[in-house]
Amino acid sequence: MEIGFIGLGKMGFPMARRLIEAKHQLTVFDTRQQAVDKLVALGAQAASSSKDIADRCETVLASLPSLQASLEVATGSGGVIEGKRVKRFVDLSTVGSQMAARIHGRLAKKNIVQIDSPVSGGVGGAEKGTLAVMVSGPRADCELIKPALGAIGKVFFIGEKPGSAQTMKLANNFLSATAMVATSEAVVMGVKAGLDPAVMIDVINAGSGLNTASRDKFPRSVLPRSFDFGFATGLMVKDVRLALEEMKSLGLSMEVAEAVGRLWEVIIRDEGAESDFTAAIKPIEKAAGV
Ligand code: NAD
Repeated sequence: MEIGFIGLGKMGFPMARRLIEAKHQLTVFDTRQQAVDKLVALGAQAASSSKDIADRCETVLASLPSLQASLEVATGSGGVIEGKRVKRFVDLSTVGSQMAARIHGRLAKKNIVQIDSPVSGGVGGAEKGTLAVMVSGPRADCELIKPALGAIGKVFFIGEKPGSAQTMKLANNFLSATAMVATSEAVVMGVKAGLDPAVMIDVINAGSGLNTASRDKFPRSVLPRSFDFGFATGLMVKDVRLALEEMKSLGLSMEVAEAVGRLWEVIIRDEGAESDFTAAIKPIEKAAGV
């Protein structure tokens, strides 16, 4: 299948590479020329803009870092919306259901189908092709792209309603964000009392406290103090804020989410948007004086 791919960052690059390895013809674009050049060396064609990709491919995938970037790439001047061949825009980014619906509305006016396809499983999952790929949009289009998305992970059809896969993704990332800060608080409590954090993580992972932070993030990034798991604090805070907005738009006020949201605002203030999200433990340690 001939596919366009826009946004070759931490997630986009390995996903694009897997599509090439699965023998899809890939045309790629990123504002960072270096990322484009690396994929061209692996067999991709280079495009000069998002519109250029949409002039050449019927199916255009994107993995972008902000809501504004998705909106601009999809519907802005020089964007996918102006392309001659494009039939469907598949957004692998996490943008929330409201932005997804906005992009859907604008593209629909040009008869371009918008498919939400946020992913979960991190950079490691993107490299191994083991992501959870959540898809929403017209069923026929979702079926058509399923074999290609199968190269990056396990595909789940969430529904036809625009943005429903985004709601699914936010529920997932709210849990991931919660696991990160809750595990940090648990470990910092133990350290303050004199426990060894490495022993604590071993026990938690053999016990009922096991979660994705204790299983993956602590052993690989927090305990070695490398803080390089591959997901930026800015992106996690984007997702936590989106989850809170989603709850609010549904008339919900959820206490754990509110507390988790407040804590992540402290983390982004203290550690910065570019820090790795596993640095979340640092302000918690500082407040505890450990
Ligand atoms: P990233 O910042 O590493 O990559 C984004 C890429 O988009 C960069 O290469 C950037 O140059 C490019 N870009 C930005 N604006 C552009 C534009 N206008 N035109 C073309 N290219 C443009 O981000 P990431 O970590 O790969 O995340 C991408 C999306 O995937 C986000 O929505 C994020 O929430 C989601 N996500 C990330 C992870 C993770 O572990 N990193 C996991 C699941 C989902």
